[in-house]
Amino acid sequence: MARIEFQNLAHAYRPNPATLNDYALQPMSMVWEDGGAYALLGPSGCGKTTLLNIVSGLVTPSEGKVLFNGHDVTAHGARERNIAQVFQFPVIYDTMSVFDNLAFPLRNRKVAEGEVKKRVHEVAEILDMTRELPRKASNLAADAKQKISLGRGLVRKDVAAILFDEPLTVIDPNMKWMLRRQLKKIHQQLKLTLIYVTHDQVEALTFADEVVVMTNGRIVQKGGPEALFLRPDHAFVGYFIGSPGMNLCPVDLDTDGVTVGSQRVALDVDTLATLRHANGALTLGIRPEFVRLAAVGEPGAVKAQLLRAQQLGNYQLVTAQCDGHLFKAKVEPHLRVSDGPVWLRLAAPETVFFSNDERIAIRITERTSR
Ligand code: ATP
Repeated sequence: MARIEFQNLAHAYRPNPATLNDYALQPMSMVWEDGGAYALLGPSGCGKTTLLNIVSGLVTPSEGKVLFNGHDVTAHGARERNIAQVFQFPVIYDTMSVFDNLAFPLRNRKVAEGEVKKRVHEVAEILDMTRELPRKASNLAADAKQKISLGRGLVRKDVAAILFDEPLTVIDPNMKWMLRRQLKKIHQQLKLTLIYVTHDQVEALTFADEVVVMTNGRIVQKGGPEALFLRPDHAFVGYFIGSPGMNLCPVDLDTDGVTVGSQRVALDVDTLATLRHANGALTLGIRPEFVRLAAVGEPGAVKAQLLRAQQLGNYQLVTAQCDGHLFKAKVEPHLRVSDGPVWLRLAAPETVFFSNDERIAIRITERTSR
């Protein structure tokens, strides 16, 4: 397996990129550690496939280098790099047996038949497919076919990394969950370098040690689930992660707090001092999980108009509008929320601020918030 490094890497499909918007992948340097399980998460068109194809060698970056274990492989094609790829739709030979499908990458590389047999059986065991080995691949369901695709990646001992491009799209929801767990188990057993592309945050968060969040050709954060949830580096991460995503509201500074429209959220002096040093447009971010419904007229709370309260089983999702800005709050399912005005507490230990969409490294402390 390989440690993969990008050095000043960028890619533009069109020649002579003049602005950052001309890049499908904006300039970046980063490391994918040997044995790491990474998810590449972002909306359609953000550059996930381009990045994956640069790792595999299907696309040569227009700028910078790709290193595998310190060796420059930028000019190497996919085969030379020894990358296994699992695509959205299973790539298997329907007329062959499961055994022959799994054996194919080894036979293709002239591996001795004794070794082929041994490896195929080992991999079938890991995938729980031993009984299916003699069966024709055409008779199998979609999830079993995708397991074969995965197996063809695992069967070679010399692969540098296995790349997955939305591999569970065609799998039904129950099987998805099982395959994801199986993949995680395989990763723990074999310590492979895995990069898994998805636009589904649940898939990314359950599979990966580290999630790499992309938007507009840029990596905006690389981190574990907790960091993405509590300390989003970029407003996009706040909005994209979570269900629903973070409440994001433009605010202005005033003497002892920030204003949401005409209403003030009072802040402690340290937070205020830090915000005064930020010189971009300020945004307050608070996840629905941390917005508290306050008592009528509670000092420090903002007054909002209730739009709806939806019962969603183990919580109630309250949507309210404060001077034209929407806020969502996840509250106790049994809390009585009546029509009309509600008071929202937006200053919490988990409240974050962004300057020009980049997080400012402060958090309001319980002790000092008013
Ligand atoms: P999706 O989830 O829809 O597959 P993605 O995140 O994988 O999207 P990419 O396919 O990498 O995104 O596309 C990134 C940007 O590069 C998009 O604006 C896309 O239109 C553009 N692009 C992708 N492939 C090419 C190509 N071969 N030629 C020109 N532009 C391309």
